[in-house]
Amino acid sequence: MKCALITGGSRGIGRAICVKMAEMGYYVIVNYKGNEAAANETLEAVRAKGSNGEALQFDVANEQEVTAVLGGWVEANKEKQIEVLVNNAGIREDNLMFWMNSTQWRNVVNTSLDGFFYVTKQVLNNMLMKRYGRIINIVSLSGIKGLPGQTNYSAAKAGVIGATKALAQEVAKRGVTVNAVAPGFIKTDMTAELNEKELAAQVPMNRFGTPEEVAEAVAFFAGKASAYITGEVLSINGGLYT
Ligand code: NDP
Repeated sequence: MKCALITGGSRGIGRAICVKMAEMGYYVIVNYKGNEAAANETLEAVRAKGSNGEALQFDVANEQEVTAVLGGWVEANKEKQIEVLVNNAGIREDNLMFWMNSTQWRNVVNTSLDGFFYVTKQVLNNMLMKRYGRIINIVSLSGIKGLPGQTNYSAAKAGVIGATKALAQEVAKRGVTVNAVAPGFIKTDMTAELNEKELAAQVPMNRFGTPEEVAEAVAFFAGKASAYITGEVLSINGGLYT
């Protein structure tokens, strides 16, 4: 059975990606950190597309938990092959560097950058053995151009972009592609408290994007048609300068 694992699949962009993967016929593993009700809602949406899946709770920033839960899942489900991995889980804890404390720094870097490492380690081996895999990392405009108030977040996302490019070259011969999608402002819980009207005015398209629009870009990288594209970062930001 072909599976897609989406970290942070319970809400926002991750949920839209789960639904898209279901449309593509994948069995969808919906990872979440704590919001079980939201993960179950995602699963219902997956089933409404005629596919199936399961919720899998683990904190991507916790190596022991990732190893125990995801590693345990891989071990116990040998008939299920994770073909698509979307490293989407992410948080922001914005502050100017002057006021940023080390907990804010660590929380954000651990979730996006360390999380990428811990999760990818658990699924890469099987992809290499099967000589097929699609890894898509959700990064950010912030990781490309840097945004004030986000030194932690910009560093974490830029780190994932570097890892994307390096890993892409390591595994290309084995039929595994590694790409990144870099959204600008997308309407989710993460951006709920931002001043949408003011920020949308900076976007050439004059609006925030939707999770579904990001999911379309992910679907392109997840599909077979993108086989010759790897190590790329695709911006999806309504024309915001990157
Ligand atoms: P949301 O805040 O709406 O959702 C975050 C998701 O990540 C939830 O499913 C949450 O799970 C999960 N999550 C958070 N921390 C962890 C963790 N440690 N382990 C496992 N799961 C975790 O975020 P978005 O949908 O907006 O963002 C998704 C990705 O897109 C992030 O990487 C973000 O940085 C990136 N992005 C978002 C942009 C935007 O404008 N929204 C712009 C650019 C990039 P739970 O429900 O259990 O809390």
